[in-house]
Amino acid sequence: MSTPVYNPTTIRDAANLRKKQNRALLNQIARKPPAQLDNMMQELHEDTFAELDCLTCANCCRTTSPIFQSKDIDRIAKRLRIRPVQLIENYLRIDEDGDYVLKSSPCPFLQSDNRCEVYDDRPTACRTYPHTDRKKFHQLIELTYKNTFVCPAVQKMLVKLEFIVK
Ligand code: SF4
Ligand code: SF4
Repeated sequence: MSTPVYNPTTIRDAANLRKKQNRALLNQIARKPPAQLDNMMQELHEDTFAELDCLTCANCCRTTSPIFQSKDIDRIAKRLRIRPVQLIENYLRIDEDGDYVLKSSPCPFLQSDNRCEVYDDRPTACRTYPHTDRKKFHQLIELTYKNTFVCPAVQKMLVKLEFIVK
């Protein structure tokens, strides 16, 4: 079986095709008891990422920005041997919520082989994306819907979920 190669357009088109189903499904699971929902999502997350290699995708790094917290900025600046203020000046801006995010996409640390130049020191938001194994998942329903337009792993989880909740 050949490895699928993902790109922003095919990912967005796939999400658009299933947007009504995905919305309904997420509304349905939001009514589950929170602990049960967390366990179900944790299992789905592990299952899906065991099958999907992010190096064939990198769409999150290509099209969205993580939030850079001060600890992230300090850690990455140290790795790049520059001052935090320089990292901010070169790569970051403040968004409408007052958070530091990338000035532009794709992420400047994304390399041509889809690897991350600062992988071991990447922002926490990159480590936890797409947040599908987070506790209190019921609070992340809207975010997960939005992430169907970015992340093929989230799309796969929702397809599997359809059979689980039937
Ligand atoms: S987390 Fe999702 S969008 Fe990011 S590289 Fe992995 S599959 Fe792609
Ligand atoms: S820091 Fe690394 S993991 Fe995070 S968006 Fe940039 S390339 Fe992707």
